[in-house]
Amino acid sequence: CGGSGCSSPGAEAAEPCCPAQRTPSPRRKWQVFPGRNRFYCDGRIMMGRQTGVFYLTLVLILLTCGLFFTFDCPFLASNLTPAIPAVGGVLFIFVMGMLFRASFSDPGVLPRATPDEAAHLERQMDSTGSSRPPPRTREVQINGQTVKLKYCFTCKIFRPPRASHCSLCDNCVERFDHHCPWVGNCVGRRNYRFFYLFILSLSFLTIFIFAFVITHVILSCVVLVLDPVRSTVLEVLVCFFSIWSIVGLSGFHTYLISSNQTTNEDIKGSWSNKRGKDNYNPYSYGTILSNCCAALCGPLPPRSVPEPPRSVPEPEPPRSVSTRTRTKLGLDPPPPPLPLLGSGSGTAQYLCVAVVGSGSAGSVPVCC
Ligand SMILES: [Zn+2]
Ligand SMILES: [Zn+2]
Repeated sequence: CGGSGCSSPGAEAAEPCCPAQRTPSPRRKWQVFPGRNRFYCDGRIMMGRQTGVFYLTLVLILLTCGLFFTFDCPFLASNLTPAIPAVGGVLFIFVMGMLFRASFSDPGVLPRATPDEAAHLERQMDSTGSSRPPPRTREVQINGQTVKLKYCFTCKIFRPPRASHCSLCDNCVERFDHHCPWVGNCVGRRNYRFFYLFILSLSFLTIFIFAFVITHVILSCVVLVLDPVRSTVLEVLVCFFSIWSIVGLSGFHTYLISSNQTTNEDIKGSWSNKRGKDNYNPYSYGTILSNCCAALCGPLPPRSVPEPPRSVPEPEPPRSVSTRTRTKLGLDPPPPPLPLLGSGSGTAQYLCVAVVGSGSAGSVPVCC
C-alpha cells in the first residue's frame, strides 16, 4: 500500500498494512510507532489521529480566498490597483505554507522507553527510596526555580521540563503547548513557530480580505450604483466571525512568545505571581526581544521518528533487539546528542536538558 494513509494503532502497527503482503519487509520506525498519530508519504508527514477539523480549516480558507480572488479581485484590480490581488496571493501562499508545516510536522514527540529501559528505570526508582510506592517525580533546578519532572506511565519515562503527554495523540511531546484540532496536530517545540506564523499571517489575510470586500461593496453600491455581488455576503460573514477569534488568538500567542510561556503553563498558572512572589518563569530570557528570537529563530531538535533512509533497506532484526543495538547495527540513526537523565542509558533517560536563559547571564544548560 506504499504506506500512504497508514496509521499506527498501537500493537496493530506491527502487522503489515495489507494482509496479502506476506513477504518480510523492513519496518520503519513510523510503522511500529506506538502512539495514535497518522503517517502519510512513507512517514514524511505526521499528523494527529483526528483530522476532520483540519479539513474544515482548509475548506474555510480555500472557500473564502477562492471567492475573493474570483469575484472581488478582478473588480478591485481594474478599479483600484493590481497590487491588491498580488498582495493577497502572497499572503495566501504564506498562510497555506505555514499551515502545512504546522500540521504535517513532528511536533517533538519523545520516544517511549523500550521494555529493558523501563525495567532499568523501575529498578532505579526502587533502589533510591525506602518509601512504598517509590516516588514518581524528580526535581531539578532551572535558573534557581525548582521544576518537577513527572513520570509518564504510558511512555515509561520521566518527562523533560515543559513536556506533557497528549491524550489524543498518546505521546509525550517536548515543550508541549496544546493539541490544536484546527491544524490536526499537537503544537510543540518542533512546530510551534509555524503554528504561530500561521495564525499571525491568517489574521492579516482575514483583515485584508474583509477590508477589500467591504471596499468592493461600497464602490459597487454607492459610487458605481451597481448591485452588490452576492458572493461577497458569504465572504463578509466568514471574515467577520473569524476575524475576532483569529486576531485574539494571535495576540494571545504573541504575549506567550514575548514571555516564553506555553499555553499549557499559562492555563495552569505555573509561573503566576499568585503562587508566591518567588514564583517566576525560569525559561524567560529576560527581554521580550530575546524571547521572540528564541521562539522564532532558535534551533529545532531532530525528529524522533526519522524520515525513511534513502539507502537500500536492510532486513529487520528480531523485535527484541534494543534501540541501542539497532543503532549500532546502523538500522536507526543515532539519538540526538543530548545529555541523558540519571546514570542509565537509552530512551528512558532521554532528553533531560533544558537550555534556559538567565537574563543577561545568557543560556545555562541544566541537566539532571
Ligand atoms: Zn507520555
Ligand atoms: Zn496531540
